[in-house]
Amino acid sequence: MALQDMTLGELWQLFPIVLESHNPEWKVWYEDARQELLQVISEACPEQSRRNSLIAIHHIGSTAVPGIWAKPIVDILVELKPTADIDDVAKSIEDNGWIRMSESQRRISLNRGYTIHGYAKRVYHLHLRYEGDNAEVAFAEYLRLHPDVAKEYEALKLSIWHKYEHDRDGYTEAKTKFIKQVMKIMEEPILNAHNKEEHRPSHTAEHLLNQVMVRMFGCERSKNAHIERKKSKINYNLNVAPTPTQIEEIEARMNELIQQDLPVTYEYVTRDNIPEGVKLDKLPEDASETLRIVRIGDFDICPCIGQHVESTKEIVFFHITSTSYNDGSFRIVYKVKAE
Ligand SMILES: [Zn+2]
Repeated sequence: MALQDMTLGELWQLFPIVLESHNPEWKVWYEDARQELLQVISEACPEQSRRNSLIAIHHIGSTAVPGIWAKPIVDILVELKPTADIDDVAKSIEDNGWIRMSESQRRISLNRGYTIHGYAKRVYHLHLRYEGDNAEVAFAEYLRLHPDVAKEYEALKLSIWHKYEHDRDGYTEAKTKFIKQVMKIMEEPILNAHNKEEHRPSHTAEHLLNQVMVRMFGCERSKNAHIERKKSKINYNLNVAPTPTQIEEIEARMNELIQQDLPVTYEYVTRDNIPEGVKLDKLPEDASETLRIVRIGDFDICPCIGQHVESTKEIVFFHITSTSYNDGSFRIVYKVKAE
């Protein structure tokens, strides 16, 4: 049987999703393929090779990001000048043992290393594009420059790996939300992004305060909060106004948690795999298949895509500036001492 006679299901059995820790050899695989492709493409469109800087070849995907686990498949993106005939170029590459995988009008994908016996030693995906159609290049670059984001991406992939081991479309789909989020951050001008960024200590205090209030008063987490560096306001639905002693206790408990220096950690879960104690009512229905869960020590757990401190001591001190109670709504105005 040849690969092209197999059903998608059979192919996914033969080529499961496999993740491996970063392998420095991937860079060598890429370099070898790059040399070969430069040669092949130059021969296919000599007018481009005469000014050889016109062919751009990039190493993209997770194998191009040091330090994170990845599918051991090297992704390569080639940008052709508008004068090139993408189909001609693809044919030349096919003559060199690559297999055409998919195509649309201005894009052709090829691969190498898929055999009837499974993966070959080196496996490649090649994305043939026209100049400028290259968002993946910036994405890989962003991950290289932001190791914390790269680690989040890795954690997401590790969490969905086994669920989608034999379902490559599902695996790709589950990563899409994250990739789109990162792309959106990348598009925002830096100044803007900076202004919009939440004050991490104040926002992390919001998580803690929600849990303190749930435990002390049996209420819901706040659905109405305005968090800022200088002054944060947050409302809780309570049947009775808390007493001054209780308000003091809220503050005391908060500062105790801050002193405990609880770590803030992240995990990615699929919607049908939500840890106990996590409520999803604050999330929109279409929030995505995969959720980011934020834990603060063993004290609090909550889905959130915001930015947080690494551990609670960074909040330094929590101070309630004022409170008010109106018609079942208890408002706390607070500030934190962190910079
Ligand atoms: Zn948060």
